[in-house]
Amino acid sequence: MTVVEEQDLLKVKLKEVFGYNQFRGNQEPIIRNILDGRDTFVIMPTGAGKSLCYQLPAMMTDKMAIVISPLIALMKNQVDQLNAFGINAKFLNSTLSKSEITRIKKESIAGEVKLLYVAPESLTKEENVEFLKKVDIAFIAVDEAHCISEWGHDFRPEYRRIRSIIDQIGNLPVIALTATATPKVQLDILKNLEIPSASTFQSSFNRKNLYYEIRPKKDAKKQLIRFMKEHNGKSGIIYCLSRKKVEEIAELLRVNGFSAAPYHAGLEASVRERNQDAFLTEDTNIIVATIAFGMGIDKPDVRFVVHYDVPKSLEGYYQETGRAGRDGLEGNCLMFYSHNDINKLEKFNKDKPVTERENARILLQEMTFFVESPVCRRKLLLHYFGEEFMEDNCHACDNCVKPKDRFEGMEHVLKVLQAAVQTEQRFGLDHLVDVLEGEKTQYVASYNHDKLEIFGAGKDEDDDFWKSVVRQTLVHEFLAKDLDQLSILKVTAKGRNFLKQPVSIELARDHEFETDAEEEEESIRQVMRTKAYDEILFDELKALRKALARKRGLPPYVIFQDPSLEEMATVYPTTEDELAQINGVGMGKVKKFGTEFLKLINEYVEEHDITTAAEVVVKSSVNKSKMKIYIIQQIDRKMDLEEIAENKAISFDGLLEEIENICYSGTRLNLDYYIDQLLDEEKQEDIYDYFMAADSDDIESAMDELEEFYSEDEVRLMRIKFMSEVAN
Ligand code: ADP
Ligand code: MG
Ligand code: ZN
Repeated sequence: MTVVEEQDLLKVKLKEVFGYNQFRGNQEPIIRNILDGRDTFVIMPTGAGKSLCYQLPAMMTDKMAIVISPLIALMKNQVDQLNAFGINAKFLNSTLSKSEITRIKKESIAGEVKLLYVAPESLTKEENVEFLKKVDIAFIAVDEAHCISEWGHDFRPEYRRIRSIIDQIGNLPVIALTATATPKVQLDILKNLEIPSASTFQSSFNRKNLYYEIRPKKDAKKQLIRFMKEHNGKSGIIYCLSRKKVEEIAELLRVNGFSAAPYHAGLEASVRERNQDAFLTEDTNIIVATIAFGMGIDKPDVRFVVHYDVPKSLEGYYQETGRAGRDGLEGNCLMFYSHNDINKLEKFNKDKPVTERENARILLQEMTFFVESPVCRRKLLLHYFGEEFMEDNCHACDNCVKPKDRFEGMEHVLKVLQAAVQTEQRFGLDHLVDVLEGEKTQYVASYNHDKLEIFGAGKDEDDDFWKSVVRQTLVHEFLAKDLDQLSILKVTAKGRNFLKQPVSIELARDHEFETDAEEEEESIRQVMRTKAYDEILFDELKALRKALARKRGLPPYVIFQDPSLEEMATVYPTTEDELAQINGVGMGKVKKFGTEFLKLINEYVEEHDITTAAEVVVKSSVNKSKMKIYIIQQIDRKMDLEEIAENKAISFDGLLEEIENICYSGTRLNLDYYIDQLLDEEKQEDIYDYFMAADSDDIESAMDELEEFYSEDEVRLMRIKFMSEVAN
């Protein structure tokens, strides 16, 4: 058969069996390569059509093809699809009964089965190896081939045994396929499958329609809600690290009026399935999930993917963001980053065996570099997968759209390369930085590197600066990692040219993320307090409060406290609901004092053309208020406070704090039944008068004045009574 005829035949079969008119990307040369009996290595992004690369060739011979695939669920799915096309495909895995297995084996030996999917753990079973020896086999496909490498994101030890089994079955061509493979993982795949001279077909990993953005994880819930409002009605996935977080964020979104469903391995299978279906059929716009979600999901119109927590590796990040915009239209990828998340992930790794832990640590480190880097995200990602992105500005990532300040980096790159050359290209980033900085560490001294000309040549800048420059030198491919020992950096041909003939090159400084970013739970409140607020509005609010207080004969703080005013001057609430969300303001106070304040804020906002709280108000979930409701009910029933504390397993102090919160949000509480047991009428009046005359309700000042006579608990209780009576 001539090549032309074979090509035609391939196309005919493509149409006849699968109904497609055209091959996509490299499919055709790949299929021809494996049909010619050559080992084949396919690297193609998710959704590009890898399966066809082994399914179609299986239809072109009268032998059977073996497909090794790691996930039983996906296996069944593919086999069902093939059967629907009228292809006799079967699978062999642990879910089958003895008689089913016997029947499949019989059919295979008789030459009736075209594709046999096998789980790696079934493949390695003695009796299966014996069986496969009796079957006429065309080739072996290893799907998700990155599972073979410890350096990938989904290592499966059983994959390591595939080669030895193939050797027992016979001398067969192998086609390995994967959607993500760094140069290191690629090398691992070729080595482990012993197909060093396989023809490699690598498609570009660039996803042009995806926008990449990373933000500090500060005020993350509020940022998330705002992002959701900007993308309201669109389909999206939010990834969280833990099941608990998944539940919490799904709840947060629901409370704020979005249709969102959780998905994680801890949910019952039926619930999981229902939520997934709801997402696929668009009954639910948003799925909040752990990384358990998404494998094999083929929803073309996912418009955004949010990483609420930092992913474990760049491969994971690429895979997960890759689920956005499959249809080629808009896809927004937003990640929230905090060092805390990295620390948490490192803790998870603690129980792993040493080498695995070390690998996991390096993957996390790559993640940090990626986040902090000022270089185009797209360029970084593609570089990570061994692909060079030539353009300077991709116009679709935060670093390109909002570039960091650039500086001329020729001299810096030269220094880095000289440091590498002078240390004989046998060291890694930290060592090079030590040498540049002139740090005489034990290591540096033991190699006499403090005697080098380059030693200390970079001491005008700090080591974070130099680390960043070394990484940028890597991304620009003047340096490259040694694939056998990733930590060693070597000068590339491009780097050697640069040394001979340096040219101008732009570098930028890294992003800075706070080292000890607060847990986001607290941050909504805290950031509010520390953030610069609108001082003009704040002063106007204060003046209004003073006027109202005078009119009613109350101390001003009884109406609203300063932090509440600051918050108003930060988020600009313009409706009663929004005002009630402010710390220390509840519906009670809104009804009592709200009208005047809202009027003031509304006028102010209009006059100054300000974005209001409408798009950033985050309603907290009901769970938190359960405790509050319980306390209010029990106080209504006149239960002793000690008993309430005990029932809720909180300290007395903790209970007082809760009660204060309730009271300061405008709910009137009657604690007389309790206070009357503690203090006689005269003493009560004494404290009450103090608060009426004071200019703040601050407990410390109160104690300075009253300490000799009363305990702090007593003063706090009286303050609650006072606030309840005069303010609420
Ligand atoms: P991958 O394994 O690379 O992630 P799949 O093999 O699951 O991707 O294919 C993704 C989708 O592309 C499937 O729905 C498949 O039917 C479709 N597809 C594959 N090849 C073609 C083609 N030549 N023409 C049209 N659709 C195709
Ligand atoms: Mg696939
Ligand atoms: Zn870019």
